[in-house]
Amino acid sequence: MEIFHVHTYRCGHAEMIEDEAYVRKAIDLRANSIVFTDHAPFPGNPFGNRMEYLELPKYISKLKNLKEKYSGIIDVKIGLEIEYLPGYADYYQELKQCKDLEILMIGQHFYEIKPGTYSFSYPELYLQEYKGCLEQIIEGMATGMFQVLAHPDRAFRKIKQWSQEHEELGKKVITVAVDNNVVLEQNFSSMQTKKYYWPEFWDLTNERNRIIRGIDAHSVKEMEKAVLAF
Ligand SMILES: [Zn+2]
Ligand SMILES: [Zn+2]
Repeated sequence: MEIFHVHTYRCGHAEMIEDEAYVRKAIDLRANSIVFTDHAPFPGNPFGNRMEYLELPKYISKLKNLKEKYSGIIDVKIGLEIEYLPGYADYYQELKQCKDLEILMIGQHFYEIKPGTYSFSYPELYLQEYKGCLEQIIEGMATGMFQVLAHPDRAFRKIKQWSQEHEELGKKVITVAVDNNVVLEQNFSSMQTKKYYWPEFWDLTNERNRIIRGIDAHSVKEMEKAVLAF
């Protein structure tokens, strides 16, 4: 069993423990693989809720050490969860070139209106958030640089009810994911939050989609709870 989508203390909203505590618990839970996908920084640290840019090399080297230390016992994989913002196109290239980063996952929590201007500054756009988020998700997947899309249905968290329009956009996301070999993540944490998980979206997927279950743990307890529930 693989434990997919684990955060670390670096993001500032997760348990303050060493990365190794997750690895040890994963072994206890009989996982044969654990995938860390902490919130990626951006150069200059323009956004909160994520590691600082200068911490990135240490995040990678710490996890590399754990990978070696636990080799043969559990496979420790190194990844990042990151928004796709068109103004940072070159930065994703840079990340992609880093051979130690095994997984780049889109996790869209806001969108770019124009470089330097983001949706979180405009609460009046909240009802339309899904459009902006999904458009940039689609653009990001089409670059071919991302292997996984985290919680695609969370983009609909502000809508009142599911409609034809949401279905159309959902179908587009699903098709672009297939075309670019992007795995869609069903997110355990979303399932615990009202309106973050949309079965209507998942009903649109087909046998050509690759789907993975992610736990989105921000603490060892959350990780354990999710593994036992899944
Ligand atoms: Zn988080
Ligand atoms: Zn996450």
